[in-house]
Amino acid sequence: MKQPIHGLGPEELAEAVREAGGERFRARQLAEWLWTRFAANWDEMTNLPRALRAALSERWLDLDGALATEEVAGEEGTGTRKILSRLADGELVETVLIPAAKDRTTVCVSSQVGCGCGCAFCASGLNGCTRSLSAGEIAAQAARAARLLGRRPDNVVFMGIGEPFLNYDAALAAARRMNDPAPDGLGIGARRITVSTCGVVPGIERFAGEGRQFELSVSLHAPTDEQRAALMPVDRKWPLGVLVPACRAYTERTGRIVTFEYTLVAGFNDRPEDARALLALLRPFPSRVNLIPLNPVKEFSGRTPSAATCEAFRAALERGGLNATLRRSKGRGVNASCGQLRRSRIGER
Ligand code: SAH
Repeated sequence: MKQPIHGLGPEELAEAVREAGGERFRARQLAEWLWTRFAANWDEMTNLPRALRAALSERWLDLDGALATEEVAGEEGTGTRKILSRLADGELVETVLIPAAKDRTTVCVSSQVGCGCGCAFCASGLNGCTRSLSAGEIAAQAARAARLLGRRPDNVVFMGIGEPFLNYDAALAAARRMNDPAPDGLGIGARRITVSTCGVVPGIERFAGEGRQFELSVSLHAPTDEQRAALMPVDRKWPLGVLVPACRAYTERTGRIVTFEYTLVAGFNDRPEDARALLALLRPFPSRVNLIPLNPVKEFSGRTPSAATCEAFRAALERGGLNATLRRSKGRGVNASCGQLRRSRIGER
């Protein structure tokens, strides 16, 4: 299958131009079209010779070909915009633009078509994982968002559909395209690019060695294996006794703090004893907890705790010395976004 040209790093792009018969300096012009002008298609790249554009189009997909946008739905009152695009093989992918503080915008990208992890409360996994996205398909989502915004987005979160660490190489190659300075990439600071995992430990270990200051989020959601395995099948493969030490090792190696995502479910993981267990689990090393009141989905019977309960849970963590934030989701309405993302917190930096 033809791949989006957005997946290519600087040397690969130079090679693609060479193969297409273009002169060396054309690679830079092409990169500018991709990453500073967010060109939708070859036709727009008017300073490239027609023959070069034709040869490139034989081999690679432009943005419209990679990600044919079918729908941009705004979410009332929140400013959130959801982009639905069709990939070259007909599969659909979602990307979300989330407004953040000070007129900033966070882009939430998907890393797979569907998800195989099967977390009980997550809408993304209901139909399993059809396939992983390529680096180009992930990176093109950021370019598509930039095109829509008319400027480079401020933050990117890998919190759309899919498990990025089960598609590690493509996810990280895409993150590099977003991070590389223009015109080789979008030029978004590494600390403004967050990869979120449900706890795929080998991915966490590799991520620690990336050498770029990307942010890591880990979906924890419960303080004991008994509770966590009930929500997240992945816990049976990498239980807390493996996951938490891997996070600690990540922090020790990189000097970077992990954000633990914790979805609060009424009467299930929001009780004082849960806060105590969470404190015992995480207190041994510095981290941050992001509390998310459950976004109700009809396939999951759990309920959202009251605002007071959520706040009490947060306060208990703070009192115990854990840095904890609580955010009400922006899109409580149906179809909030990617399977369920309400990742406003990370956008608010
Ligand atoms: N697979 C990755 C990326 C998805 S990020 C991961 O699991 O981290 C999406 C985040 O939203 C995860 O923390 C996920 O657990 C959470 N989430 C999914 N469904 C939710 C729901 N109904 N309510 C609240 N949070 C939810």
